[in-house]
Amino acid sequence: MTFDRRIFNFAAGPATLPEEVLKQAADEMLNWQGLGTSVMEISHRSKEFMAVYEETLQDLRTLMNIPGSYEILLLQGGGLGQNAAIPMNLMPLAKHGPKADFIVTGVWSEKSFKEAQKYGTANLAASSVAEKFNTIPARSTWQLSDDAAYVHYCANETIGGVEFADIPDVGNTPLVADISSNILSKEMDVNKCAVWFAGAQKNIGPSGVTIVIIRKDLIGHSMGITPTIWDWAVQANTQSMINTPPTFAIYMAGLGFQWLLKQGGVKAIQKRNQEKSALLYNYLDQSGFYENRVNKEYRSRMNVTFFLKDEAFNAKFLEESNAAGLVALRGHKAAGGMRASIYNAMPLEGVKALVEFMSDFERRA
Ligand SMILES: *Cc1c(COP(=O)(O)O)cnc(C)c1O
Repeated sequence: MTFDRRIFNFAAGPATLPEEVLKQAADEMLNWQGLGTSVMEISHRSKEFMAVYEETLQDLRTLMNIPGSYEILLLQGGGLGQNAAIPMNLMPLAKHGPKADFIVTGVWSEKSFKEAQKYGTANLAASSVAEKFNTIPARSTWQLSDDAAYVHYCANETIGGVEFADIPDVGNTPLVADISSNILSKEMDVNKCAVWFAGAQKNIGPSGVTIVIIRKDLIGHSMGITPTIWDWAVQANTQSMINTPPTFAIYMAGLGFQWLLKQGGVKAIQKRNQEKSALLYNYLDQSGFYENRVNKEYRSRMNVTFFLKDEAFNAKFLEESNAAGLVALRGHKAAGGMRASIYNAMPLEGVKALVEFMSDFERRA
């Protein structure tokens, strides 16, 4: 399928980006800031790039209201890299040997839990696997250890479409949040977690850069085996430039932050995200043809998963939605069904077009 216009792209990541951001990057591609070169062809240590880097960090600080007691690292290796880096940097803080607690609510937190087992004791404190990852275990059922270095959870499970409504309270143990797919989508009190991490490719910019926000007192305790590029202390001491950083991805993330500031920041986008997801869920709930299976309290505002009650229509649904320019609605293979990822950059018009298509398809089926 080819198109002569921009589609509405519901991909989970890499995901759609604001048109203004893409246009600005295109306009600046051949001659950035009058230097006669693109931003990706200059030294990461040049004063021009360092200015981009500083402004990018400052804009993120402003958007998330990140206090000075937290370090921001811009790393490579994605969320998956941090699944290894976090235990290597934090597990040594446990009282009786390397240990951490895990709340498993879907594919991503399960991956984090499994990766951590290479570095120490990973305690499964709670899991919703028996509920097919369609809910979040009640906080009262969590079996937290008293000697864990930290508690890991995934704030938004991208594949199942399950999102924590609030940041859980785990007492004094540092809380680590995977916010890969809901960073900057709603207000979050940074002080409530010790570590926050997210790849850029869902809600910020293209893939290639991973944002890690760390309470400063937790830096400097890594295991001896920690690869240099993932040692938070090394990266904090070198402005995340112990080696060549992904300069173009950082520049694009910076444009993404500027765009979000222009939209009115996180508070404004949160309202829009609420409106977008409510439109889709309300439609699903009144339909006899489609269904969402996630506990209503924990439905993701970013990744809306749904099933056609008669799955014999799946192929036709995907083919016709694609032809209508509503692209990438197939659910992850681990979950089946359909998924509409509606991150910050997805306009309300895209969700309206999807609902219109879905109701028309339902009528014709
Ligand atoms: C996409 C995703 C990841 C993995 O990110 P990579 O950058 O591909 O390593 C981790 N956690 C969540 C919740 C995700 O959505």
